[in-house]
Amino acid sequence: MVMSGRHFLQIPGPTNVPDRVLRAMDFPTMDHRGPAFADLGHKVLMGMKSIFKTEGTVVIFPASGTGAWEAALVNTLSPGDRVLMYEAGHFASLWRRMAERLGLDVELVEGDWRNGVDPEVVEARLRADGSHTIKAVCVVHNETSTGCTARVDDVRGALDAAQHPALLMVDTISSLASIDYRHDEWGVDVTVAGSQKGLMLPPGLSFNAISDKALAAAKGAGLQKAYWAWEEMRGPNAKGYFPYTPATNLLYGLAEAIDMLHELGLDQVFARHARHAEATRRAVRGWGLEVLCTNPRHYSGALTAVLMPEGHSADAFRQVTLENFNMSLGNGLSKLVDRVFRIGHLGDFNDLMLMGTLCGVEMGLQAAGVPHRHGGVQAALDFLAGREERAQRRATA
Ligand SMILES: *Cc1c(COP(=O)(O)O)cnc(C)c1O
Repeated sequence: MVMSGRHFLQIPGPTNVPDRVLRAMDFPTMDHRGPAFADLGHKVLMGMKSIFKTEGTVVIFPASGTGAWEAALVNTLSPGDRVLMYEAGHFASLWRRMAERLGLDVELVEGDWRNGVDPEVVEARLRADGSHTIKAVCVVHNETSTGCTARVDDVRGALDAAQHPALLMVDTISSLASIDYRHDEWGVDVTVAGSQKGLMLPPGLSFNAISDKALAAAKGAGLQKAYWAWEEMRGPNAKGYFPYTPATNLLYGLAEAIDMLHELGLDQVFARHARHAEATRRAVRGWGLEVLCTNPRHYSGALTAVLMPEGHSADAFRQVTLENFNMSLGNGLSKLVDRVFRIGHLGDFNDLMLMGTLCGVEMGLQAAGVPHRHGGVQAALDFLAGREERAQRRATA
């Protein structure tokens, strides 16, 4: 069906690709072994270090984020190694299933899917592992199925407090360049990321940021690896090249996206995401609906998952919103199928795009006959327009 105007792609990834990035990719594909390529290779590898906030190693795979999950595990671990994983939601459980398929011994901390990782539980598990059989702790920074964010610095604190030598691996696929993240400062060993969320690119690139400790672990790691082997990458990368054909045009886009992020300023980008998330939660409460994440310290800046009123289908509501208003919202995943819808507010986004999105949700609730109060959109609008702040200033003046 042809619909006029722009489609609103408000799923929590893939996100809207800015025109500037689309234009940057619209160039002939170059010889990836020729002299011009090395400049691009160096630029994106260096640039990604600044986004991860690391002085360490970064590798880029032509793959979806799932590939970088696999790379993190197979490069550092051996068959039968124990890994501690925290099941905060759907993506955490997919990573766990992958670890099991690869022959790792997963110790699982179950979560309630309404909170981020609990560092105290991680610390207790690590303290109980006095003989250090756990080789890695794996956490998802922003659990995209629930809209709950883990405090990675506190998870690092849990490892330190337990004086445990396990590697710390963090999935930032839906948080990098949306929510504050510091690979070096937080002592992360392997960070996993993807192109199609906060980095504002189409799907197709994934990343590992790698600490020296993880590189050292890689020397003795016994899991089978070929395509994902860091060692194969690092030789050619040092000269700006890749061991196989890179996704050249996505790399043009990546160079542009990195420039944009620095022109905007990463701190401003994080603040914008937090502000849009706050406006969205105010809208949800204004509608009389419930935000899935119950812990304000874990609220995600990247997306908001909204619980449907009992007896109403989230998928039917999303269908009505798509057909009537040309907007895609995120669906509920696994345990949450049909129970939640997810509003993505990450990537290349501004106040008016958010208001269009929230108007689409409010109109969709109405059109689908979902019981709700009016005034959600107004609450978000008042917040974004700073009406409340101004009233407060007047009251204190
Ligand atoms: C999207 C996402 C993934 C999966 O990434 P793909 O690119 O689909 O392979 C994994 N983890 C998180 C947190 C995600 O948001």
